[in-house]
Amino acid sequence: MNISLHDKRFEPYIKEVAIQNRVNAIAEQISDDYKGKRPLFISMLNGAFWFTADLLRNIVGEFEVSFVKFKSYHGTQSSGEVVQSLGLDIDVKDRDIVVLEDIIDTGGTLKVFLEVLSQHNPGSVKIASLLIKPGALKYPIKADYVGFEIPNDFIVGYGLDYDGLGRNLRDIYVIENSSGS
Ligand code: 5GP
Ligand code: MG
Ligand code: MG
Repeated sequence: MNISLHDKRFEPYIKEVAIQNRVNAIAEQISDDYKGKRPLFISMLNGAFWFTADLLRNIVGEFEVSFVKFKSYHGTQSSGEVVQSLGLDIDVKDRDIVVLEDIIDTGGTLKVFLEVLSQHNPGSVKIASLLIKPGALKYPIKADYVGFEIPNDFIVGYGLDYDGLGRNLRDIYVIENSSGS
């Protein structure tokens, strides 16, 4: 069923069960890759909060988690300007870091954060993103774990918002009349 948020209409795109299957598969893969280590997950707020919760509940083995917050989106467009509003509060030196993102669009937010991270000499850094829009990428960001590759269309749900609304939706929705529909 299509839904309205503010002035726009959205149609169903990725079902909850498909999301959960991919998130569980990524959790299994990360649990294997970091066996015997104690990775530090750094979750990018706000959008990644649901992905973070579902993923980490399924990790087998020891880990730690911390949160940072960046903002670049206004409405349905990336503003191009990335602002950090909640900083790193944990020592990352020599740690095995897994950065958790909801979606990689231009890659601008991650580029800024990876630069900040590298100044603090982490042991290793990998990226897990629930979604990626390969057609929108402007910076050479390589994600190590990806849930879904999607076209360059605006989506909401499962943590992702349109001007504050839609984060609670269990499925992911795409804006109506998008290129993929
Ligand atoms: P980037 O810096 O890679 O261009 O975009 C980073 C952030 O913009 C994402 O982490 C996400 O919060 C937001 N974003 C990018 N694409 C979408 C989208 O299709 N829908 C929503 N709701 N947010 C998006
Ligand atoms: Mg994000
Ligand atoms: Mg947003």
